[in-house]
Amino acid sequence: MTADLMTDVLVIGSGPAGGGAALALATLGVEHMVVTKYRWTANTPRAHITNQRTMEVFRDLGIEEDVLAQGTPHELMGETVFCTSLAGDEIGRVRTWGTHPAREADYTLASPSPNCDIPQTFLEPIVIGHAASRGSRIRFDTEYVRIVQDDDGVTVTVRDRVTDHEYDIRAKYVIGADGGRSAVAADVGLPFEGEMDVAGSMNIVFHADLSHLVACTSWWVTTRCP
Ligand SMILES: Cc1cc2nc3c(=O)[nH]c(=O)nc-3n(C[C@H](O)[C@H](O)[C@H](O)COP(=O)(O)OP(=O)(O)OC[C@H]3O[C@@H](n4cnc5c(N)ncnc54)[C@H](O)[C@@H]3O)c2cc1C
Repeated sequence: MTADLMTDVLVIGSGPAGGGAALALATLGVEHMVVTKYRWTANTPRAHITNQRTMEVFRDLGIEEDVLAQGTPHELMGETVFCTSLAGDEIGRVRTWGTHPAREADYTLASPSPNCDIPQTFLEPIVIGHAASRGSRIRFDTEYVRIVQDDDGVTVTVRDRVTDHEYDIRAKYVIGADGGRSAVAADVGLPFEGEMDVAGSMNIVFHADLSHLVACTSWWVTTRCP
C-alpha cells in the first residue's frame, strides 16, 4: 500500500496520554510519529493534581525533577476551601492530597515520588519537549481524519490545518490518544462506558493580581508557609 509517510507507531494526540506514549517510545528507541490537532500543547490548565503513580512513571522516564521544578510541591498543596466566592465567606476547608498529618505517612510510605500540582499548560511542554529531544517526530496543526486497517498495518489520513492538505500516514500500530471524545475510538468502534454530560461545569481562566484576597493568614504563616 502506498502512503505519503511511513512510521512504526503513529500517536494521535499530544495530551498526557499521547505525550506520555511518545516519550516512552522515544526513550525505548521505537520509531514513531505524533500528529496533533492544534499548533501547540494545551492552552488551558485542566489537569493539575498529579498523583504518585504518575510521578513514578515520570521518574522512570527521567523527567520527575523537571516536573517538580515547575509544579507546586506536595507540602504546599494545602487545602480544599469551600466558600461563597473567592473573596466571600468561607464555609469550610479540608486538608487534602495527603497533606493532613493523619494521612501524610501513608503517602510517604506508598512511594518515593511525592504527588504534586502542575497544570497541563506547564506539564505538556515538559513531556513533549523531552520526547522531541529524544527523537519523536511531532506534527502540530495536524488533524486525524480517518483510519483504514488491513492485515499488514494501518493507513491514517490526516489534514494539515495550515494548508488544508490531506495526506496518508502508513503505520504498523496506531495509538489513539485524542481525548475523551476520541474520533479514533469512535471510528474503530471502541465503546466508552458511562454517561456523558451528567452535570455541567464551567472553568474560566483569567489573569489578575489576587494576592490581597488569598494572602497568608497568621495561622498559615506560622504553620504552613515556608
Ligand atoms: C478542568 C479540568 C480539570 C481536571 N483536573 C484534573 C486533575 O486535577 N487531575 C487529573 O488527573 N485529571 C484532571 N482532569 C482530567 C485530565 O485533563 C484528562 O484526564 C487528561 O487530559 C486526558 O488526557 P488525554 O491525553 O487522554 O486527552 P487530552 O488531554 O484531551 O488530549 C487529547 C489530545 O488529542 C488531540 N486531538 C484531539 N482530537 C484530535 C484529532 N482529531 N486529531 C489530532 N489530534 C487530536 C488534542 O489536541 C490533544 O493534544 C481535568 C480535566 C479538566 C477539563
